[in-house]
Amino acid sequence: MSLAEELSLIPDLSFSPDHDLTRFTTMRLASVGDLVEVRSVNAVQRLLPLLKKYERSYLVVGWGANQILPAQCDELVIYLDLPFDPGSLSAPMESYRLPASVGLNQLTGHALRFGLAGWEVFTGIPASLGGAIFMNAGTNLGEFGALVTQVELVTRDGEIREEHMTSKSFSYRRNHFVAPGEVIVSATLVHRGLNPEIPQKIRDYLEYRKKTQPLATRNCGCVFKNPNRELPAGKLIDLLGLKGLSVGGLRVSSKHANFIENTGASTWEEFQTLVNIIKSYADQFYGIEFELEVKIPYD
Ligand SMILES: Cc1cc2nc3c(=O)[nH]c(=O)nc-3n(C[C@H](O)[C@H](O)[C@H](O)COP(=O)(O)OP(=O)(O)OC[C@H]3O[C@@H](n4cnc5c(N)ncnc54)[C@H](O)[C@@H]3O)c2cc1C
Repeated sequence: MSLAEELSLIPDLSFSPDHDLTRFTTMRLASVGDLVEVRSVNAVQRLLPLLKKYERSYLVVGWGANQILPAQCDELVIYLDLPFDPGSLSAPMESYRLPASVGLNQLTGHALRFGLAGWEVFTGIPASLGGAIFMNAGTNLGEFGALVTQVELVTRDGEIREEHMTSKSFSYRRNHFVAPGEVIVSATLVHRGLNPEIPQKIRDYLEYRKKTQPLATRNCGCVFKNPNRELPAGKLIDLLGLKGLSVGGLRVSSKHANFIENTGASTWEEFQTLVNIIKSYADQFYGIEFELEVKIPYD
């Protein structure tokens, strides 16, 4: 049997070869590749050992808000759409066990309604829960990792592995516990009590983001990690006068210089070119080696 035939036997799983992957990243660079959409944890448990058996490389895409996929994606793309009952967010709880595919926007809606302290830290971040954990996403209000107590992953052998969070589980835009090939399937989140001031804090922060980030454009968020808290990459790029710099249809945002906007039918090569230009400026003028925050397969 071929991999495709074996995949067709797994319930809650759809395999689409040579699929248009463009909409699977917020940057919307044109991309084609094999896609597997998975709708249950059990299907993830059956999928990963098969990919191991066939030595097929793969990646997971959440909201694709921090990933760029190449025009021809050789890695099989796994997209999770796990069962989630929105009714489970109809009242505040002490802790929440949630599927990795739930959107942070839904969680922000819950925090707005009930004033969950701590949940304001992820206001406005476009992400799935799995992607936010993998990246330890954050804002200047705090980091997502601080709210996570436990994560369930599926290993390459299809086993469920439970990881309890410690002070060493996360650092700036990184996790330290997802092994290569593992897929986060659910996580437990906590908050710091109910506080009636939180809804206004969330609303104010959303307004601030609208003013300072090009949210209406196609982009992948911050392209580079901040070299440190005092030196935000956007500020450094702005001081170099690179706002508005274009390669093909890609442009350094004039609203926030650490964002690259896709204004047309841009390519993966153009993205690499623009990134390399910015990196070489930063190296030449500041002696700083910019590190990518956005995930680029094969980089
Ligand atoms: C307009 C805009 C604003 C943004 N603002 C912020 C911000 O303020 N702060 C911030 O931190 N980020 C920001 N980002 C970046 C992005 O939102 C975050 O990095 C977010 O955590 C990505 O989540 P995702 O679900 O889109 O993950 P993806 O981009 O799809 O994936 C990111 C990484 O996580 C891995 N991954 C995803 N899901 C899983 C899973 N279930 N199991 C294992 N690995 C997985 C992927 O393989 C990939 O390596 C912004 C992006 C945009 C477009």
